[in-house]
Amino acid sequence: MSEFDYDLFTIGAGSGGVRASRLAAQTGAKVAVAEEDRPGGTCVLRGCVPKKLLVHASHFPDEAADAAAFGWTVPAPALDWSTLRDNVQAETARLSKIYHRNLSLAGAELIAERARLKGPHTVHLERSGRDVTARHILIATGSWPHLPADVPGIEHALTSNDMFTLDRLPERIAIVGGGYIAVEFAGILNGLGVKTTLVYRGAEILRGFDLDLRVMLAHEMEAKGIEILLETNVEGIVKHEKGLTLVCERGKELEVDAVLYATGRRPKTERLGLDAAGVATDKTGAIEVDAYSQSSVPSIYAIGDATNRMNLTPVAIREGIAFVETVFKGHPTAMDYEGVPTAVFSQPPIGTVGLAEAAARAAGHKVDIYRTSFRTMKHAFAGREEHMLMKLVVDGETDRVLGCHIMGHEAGELIQIAGIALKARATKAEFDATCAVHPTAAEELVTIREKYVPRGKPEAA
Ligand code: NDP
Repeated sequence: MSEFDYDLFTIGAGSGGVRASRLAAQTGAKVAVAEEDRPGGTCVLRGCVPKKLLVHASHFPDEAADAAAFGWTVPAPALDWSTLRDNVQAETARLSKIYHRNLSLAGAELIAERARLKGPHTVHLERSGRDVTARHILIATGSWPHLPADVPGIEHALTSNDMFTLDRLPERIAIVGGGYIAVEFAGILNGLGVKTTLVYRGAEILRGFDLDLRVMLAHEMEAKGIEILLETNVEGIVKHEKGLTLVCERGKELEVDAVLYATGRRPKTERLGLDAAGVATDKTGAIEVDAYSQSSVPSIYAIGDATNRMNLTPVAIREGIAFVETVFKGHPTAMDYEGVPTAVFSQPPIGTVGLAEAAARAAGHKVDIYRTSFRTMKHAFAGREEHMLMKLVVDGETDRVLGCHIMGHEAGELIQIAGIALKARATKAEFDATCAVHPTAAEELVTIREKYVPRGKPEAA
């Protein structure tokens, strides 16, 4: 009989924890997963999945407006928020049950309570008061919205967690932040008919993305009716009878019904007993791990947002797979973070993989840029001024495509495929040798022949 109750005890049944637990159980290991909420984690319950459904919902007014050009008569669309909200919640509940079922089918036990570390091999279950032991412990507790503590009235702000269960939609909202969540919710809420103002402290939204994408997206968002205030810090939120006042620098005040703070997320590692077990963290609470996701305590591993490496669901899942390969299959595997494609479901959406132009220059590449911007057939026909941008960042010496950046319809779908080409280290000549699919927007990726010559200086980070 084993000296431990379990071979693996996972804390957190989100995307990473569930995948690792299922795969470990399939090797014959005895596995338990503790989860204080429903299974599914941020992605399923209050992130990617419900967000994407709201993105779909918010497109319908544009589709209805376009319909006339295609000969359809459509009554003016009107939204019943409670129907949308409840249907989205029903879908997340369905998916959560599937997560639970998949764990059971793999032979892993779900323990529906909060767990905390008590030692290198011991976990304390808070509700039942039990202690259990495991040969390996995997922390997959994810992250949580982080609000700045120094803003007076911050207690009146909503976070992305709140947005999926609102009693009613606000008429006017201010969104603070310029990252993924801020721009995604700006598009959703504007599409659903909410007067939306984005307030960002920097010079261009979406720091870290290619500058052309950042500038063009902001332009497209404004064209859709979103107000964007750049280089604007918030000084406070004042609640009054008629709503909220967002007080910004330079005397700017916004009268709104709600304020959404999307100012980043922090690892959810508080009250997890990390100190008791001797697990080292950084100053944000992120668990420090090596390339194999092993913490400072050899029996304890951590994956996903709890480690603050690359906070994306598919990355957490791959880190979980690599963990099982390493620990349960005797095949040490490190996650490969190079060339991870990502999409921002802004409106229009963005897809990006590889290096931004400025990052490629900073890395010392002699860069050639291929770039095109146009209205797609559907938008042009419907008379809609929505543009698409495609940009390839190419190493002028080796011809390798270092980065691919797309803004426009289905950019998330396109970048998945472009990601394969970049992962295979494709050259521009190989893009060019690929026959176009016509008529599509994506054909531009294989037909841009002219190098783009910028009018000003090359872009800086
Ligand atoms: P991000 O880190 O993407 O963006 C945070 C934003 O808030 C930045 O614009 C940042 O500004 C700003 N900010 C930070 N602190 C303050 C402050 N004190 N006052 C004002 N502004 C501030 O975080 P998000 O919350 O948008 O998303 C969290 C993570 O979740 C993302 O990084 C991503 O990894 C993941 N995610 C992925 C999605 C996807 O794949 N589509 C969708 C949603 C989330 P600055 O740039 O100046 O630092």
